[in-house]
Amino acid sequence: MTAQFAVIGNPIAHSRSPELHQAFAARMQVSLQYHRLLAELDDFSNSVQTFFADPNAVGMNVTVPFKEQAYQLCKVLTQRAQIAQAVNTLWMQNGVLHGDNTDGLGLVAALQALNMPLQKATVLILGAGGATRGVIAPLFEAGVTRIDIANRTLSRAQQLIQDLQPFLPTAQLQALDLENLAGSYDLVINATSASLTGAAFNLPTALHFSHAYEMAYGKPSAFLAAAQARGAITADGYSMLVGQAIESFAIWHSGLRPNLSDFLTA
Ligand code: NDP
Repeated sequence: MTAQFAVIGNPIAHSRSPELHQAFAARMQVSLQYHRLLAELDDFSNSVQTFFADPNAVGMNVTVPFKEQAYQLCKVLTQRAQIAQAVNTLWMQNGVLHGDNTDGLGLVAALQALNMPLQKATVLILGAGGATRGVIAPLFEAGVTRIDIANRTLSRAQQLIQDLQPFLPTAQLQALDLENLAGSYDLVINATSASLTGAAFNLPTALHFSHAYEMAYGKPSAFLAAAQARGAITADGYSMLVGQAIESFAIWHSGLRPNLSDFLTA
């Protein structure tokens, strides 16, 4: 019987995960089926249980808005998922639900493939939501020396640092207000969901940076347009999507890891 996988979210129609995992499977000569699952907002737990009741069910990816609920549901969590307090990869082992967060590894792999700064880099992250939580520890592990987190709601950035600092006692982390940004960074990462609204993105002239990465993908980004107008080298989040998918694939397929650069063209 064919191994079954799914990505669960709400909405889910836009997800590129099924085609990516089918493409990985074809490249690695693995047989699988990968579905999109729309879960009602109050029915995530039931949907996960129903999926894994199938004896051929192997793994699920979790996307907006269920990553925190997935974290709560898991009996066993990787350290990365514990730090992120969010789960995007589920699998069942001896009847026990396991969870990991591969978003951060995916971002790091993407930045490496794109030759964006990591070693000794100073990074400014805009936004303090689930995606930011998932990428902080992997960025430090990849050699970043300082991360400033600027958020519209400053208290959320402060809370995030308070939660993460015990896991990263020596990490240089600072919360900033999104207004009045200034200073020099090697890389600015947009982890807000703001730029997709089409509203203009204000990047103050006192803010200097050479590279910019937009986590969102698939639509024009006001953040990337503003960064390009400032002469920065830029990329959108499709490469991160591919990177996190590769890490999920490796978890489910005993370490089989497709080559990221083979799948970077959307
Ligand atoms: P969350 O909903 O958890 O967080 C959203 C963040 O955006 C918050 O910090 C929020 O600030 C901020 N924000 C929202 N609207 C505005 C606005 N108008 N102005 C300024 N800030 C705003 O989302 P996630 O962290 O899960 O995802 C963030 C982005 O990253 C999304 O675009 C998502 O698609 C993308 N992503 C991409 C991935 C990939 O593989 N490429 C993987 C994961 C995420 P506040 O706290 O003030 O509300």
